[in-house]
Amino acid sequence: MRSTFLPFSSPSISEEEIAAVSDVLRSGWITTGPNCGKFEQAFADYCGADGAVAVSSATGGMHCVLQALEVGAGDEVITPSMTWVSTVNLICLLGAKPVFADIDRGTMMVSRETIEPLITDKTKAIIPVHYAGASVDMDPIRELAAERGIALVEDAAHAAGTEYKGERIGKKGTCIFSFHPIKNITTGEGGMVCSDDAELLAKVKSLKFHGLGVDAFDRQTQGRAPQAQVLQPGYKYNMTDISAVLGLGQLAQLDGFNARRTELANRYLQALEQIPGIQPLELPTHDQLHAWHLFIVRVEGDRDGFMAALKQQNIGTGLHFRAVHLQKYYTETFGIERGLLPNTEWNSDRICSLPLCPSMSDADVDDVVEAIKTVLKKD
Ligand SMILES: *Cc1c(COP(=O)(O)O)cnc(C)c1O
Repeated sequence: MRSTFLPFSSPSISEEEIAAVSDVLRSGWITTGPNCGKFEQAFADYCGADGAVAVSSATGGMHCVLQALEVGAGDEVITPSMTWVSTVNLICLLGAKPVFADIDRGTMMVSRETIEPLITDKTKAIIPVHYAGASVDMDPIRELAAERGIALVEDAAHAAGTEYKGERIGKKGTCIFSFHPIKNITTGEGGMVCSDDAELLAKVKSLKFHGLGVDAFDRQTQGRAPQAQVLQPGYKYNMTDISAVLGLGQLAQLDGFNARRTELANRYLQALEQIPGIQPLELPTHDQLHAWHLFIVRVEGDRDGFMAALKQQNIGTGLHFRAVHLQKYYTETFGIERGLLPNTEWNSDRICSLPLCPSMSDADVDDVVEAIKTVLKKD
């Protein structure tokens, strides 16, 4: 058994990044400023996106996008229940109704087939979630959304560096990334909205800062902008320059991080083949490049007991995610019962995320595999 605890994830932050953050702290300008502008440009360039707006979290970015799309009372928004709660919470907070699409049992992602039957004349938006670093099969869903004139917003929180048919997620459509500490790159907290819809992006840019016409930092004068006017009531979701400079350093390492994640994931895949009762997620059959945000397995039997037993072996795990539709507020408010989303529920009962982050060694993976063998033997 390991002598030290292996956390399920920990951020990789270099001394150069710490020095860059210190420089910003000493510079006299720590909130949204020149580093945010640079980070937005660098991230858009990385994805091949037309434009990007930095925000304080993916959740804040999603709030601005849904507001910009005028999602509100009487509207329905189709999204998987196998997602982080933030999206579904926001749909409700905006007064709209979440409509849950089931996922593929193997890859845990939505498809045109699971979305299309749910469309009504109230459907305002569709929010697919790229899962664990793999890409949703977007083309059929893009066609569906275009045919029906429905907005499409991609939850790309797991998909920094993911490619679909040779293009990075973020290049097409409207995509929202997260830089929470467990994601593929981090800014402490933070997010990025990329979009090929310039009008939408301009609205997001305003909504993330009170609905004003400009930021406090004026890029022309390199200083404080004159008091701007409210165009529409907005939020306070701007990114700080402290976060942005960290993001610039992290972005430069993203491909290297993802390459290491891929090596570790392949090592898991090979080792776990020999262990019955542990089933990793299936890889999509469409053309894509995996960013390996998470390494998820489905556990036969008592999953919660399995996670607790691994913890006793000094191995941390995560649960991404407990199906949203089965959580207290959602079952009570919408009268939802088990059975609505069979593949979502099947996975929600079995999934467990094993440790995966670029700082891990091959020996760490081997420790996890040994611990799994030990835990399964005890059953
Ligand atoms: C992390 C995550 C979010 C939210 O990101 P924040 O930056 O923490 O707001 C949204 N969706 C999914 C699928 C996530 O994993």
